[in-house]
Amino acid sequence: MSINTIRPDLPGLPETVPARMLNEFVYCPRLFHLEWVQQQFATSDDVEEGLYLHRVVDREAGDLPDKSEAWNGRVARSVSLSSPRLGLATRLDLVEDGGDGTVVPVDYKKGHPNKDGGAWPSDRVQSLVQALLLREEGYAVERAEIWYAETRQRVHITVDDAALQEITDTVTRAWRVASDPSAPPPMRDSPKCARCSLVGICLPDELDALQTPPKQRRPLKRLMAPILEGRPVYVTLQGAVVGVRSDRLEVRLSGELKASYRLIDVSQVCVFGNVTVSAQAARTLLSRDIPVLWFSYGGWFSGIAEGLPGKNVDLRIAQFRAPEQQQLEIARRMISGKIRNSRTMLRRNARGEMPRVGEQLKQLAIQAMQAESSQQLLGIEGTAARLYFGSFSAMVGKNSRVDVSDFQENGRTRRPPKDPLNALLSFCYTLLVKDLTVTLMGIGFDPYYGMFHKPRFGRPALALDLAEEFRSLVAESVVLQVLNNGEVGPHDFQSRAGGCMLEASGRKAVLRAYERRLEQEITHPQFGYKASYRRVMDIQARVLGAVMLGELDDYTAMVTR
Ligand code: SF4
Repeated sequence: MSINTIRPDLPGLPETVPARMLNEFVYCPRLFHLEWVQQQFATSDDVEEGLYLHRVVDREAGDLPDKSEAWNGRVARSVSLSSPRLGLATRLDLVEDGGDGTVVPVDYKKGHPNKDGGAWPSDRVQSLVQALLLREEGYAVERAEIWYAETRQRVHITVDDAALQEITDTVTRAWRVASDPSAPPPMRDSPKCARCSLVGICLPDELDALQTPPKQRRPLKRLMAPILEGRPVYVTLQGAVVGVRSDRLEVRLSGELKASYRLIDVSQVCVFGNVTVSAQAARTLLSRDIPVLWFSYGGWFSGIAEGLPGKNVDLRIAQFRAPEQQQLEIARRMISGKIRNSRTMLRRNARGEMPRVGEQLKQLAIQAMQAESSQQLLGIEGTAARLYFGSFSAMVGKNSRVDVSDFQENGRTRRPPKDPLNALLSFCYTLLVKDLTVTLMGIGFDPYYGMFHKPRFGRPALALDLAEEFRSLVAESVVLQVLNNGEVGPHDFQSRAGGCMLEASGRKAVLRAYERRLEQEITHPQFGYKASYRRVMDIQARVLGAVMLGELDDYTAMVTR
């Protein structure tokens, strides 16, 4: 059977689709779209194991002999083949002499055969593509084989006309999905999702839950395959040099090693003030998608270097094209959520009853949901902030070593913060906005184009929008923790020229408390499973992405009870 051109003749499509992406397509068309079209990738234990196995088979050896030559037991390893005519490409782990004038492609898989001892459908497709491309090169191929490492078994696949028709149909469907800018919807209740490396990005159960009325929602399983999470490294040591040696990030001062971390454990590198990042370290970090973030000595977020920008261009297009009404609706929900979280914060922590303020905040949260314009919403948010910060000192306990009476007098002040409490709030907001900027960029958003905050003065407006619902939950909670636990004292602040800033010791204490807070797990109010604040921030950004791409009708802010 001869195969005709399969790739659709549409501008902008790549010439060929890799066979391993067809494997993903058969597993789940949405996975194929997320990985290949949107270039979203997440590692997991399964992925790491598969990569480890392929370290062995990816060593090139031998080459495909000319068709006219006899194979005589020869083998070729790690051979790349492609056919623009068919629109297919593959890398073959092994090609063997079939012994009867035929050749046999052998694919290595880390798992095991299916319960009938056969190949899994997704593995089968990958092998058939390999057979097809060998035939396209003029070799006779009558069977393909898969070697499953877990059970050390070979599985045979017959390459006949029916199999070739099957592969043609699959590839045609895959190209159709690739031509569509929108990903197919997530599967519902599929056991495949639990093993999918992109489950934490795709959020199939979460998107389903958000489309179900709250009373009918069932608690979801904890994410089965969480994204392997690294941790930020903060370098505050003045004069330090950040370098890379043997897959480790090293911090040195005058040549002396002060700290060292495995690169796979690092999610971002934050440097404060006079800290140098070597050119080699910057290159290595960027090639591993680990952003480097620069802060002034005082903690002002001044810049970020990351690898190539997020590849999900359709998300950016949707973000910029979002109609004003949709932007207002999202902003309403974020601000209303922020006000409700502020109210909960006061209810839980303030000394003495605050029924009047609590009731006023409740009414303002309702009004925020009904705001008819951004301007009106801004006014409501401002009123709520004045009320909230007017009562904020009541949450600072007797154990605090820092006098917060100046805050009672000054209220919230920004540039510069005028008292220790304002300095703490400003620093924690900076950290929060920094993390949301990185999260949004990683997903493919432009963090500078917001729904509520206007894209002006170089502000990461979308990160500021998303920060609203996390201000009380993360930043203000950290401020209260370091004060009420006595983790900062009067000597951790310095007052100069009408402003107050944190000393290095104070910044270190706050950074520790902030990272502790991001690690803390809470039960997600919509989904019912436990997740760290770090993960919840990522989920909220992805939910926002699903709204932008039309996968969800409405945004739901993170609000605790
Ligand atoms: S989580 Fe499920 S629906 Fe989403 S890409 Fe993976 S397999 Fe597909």
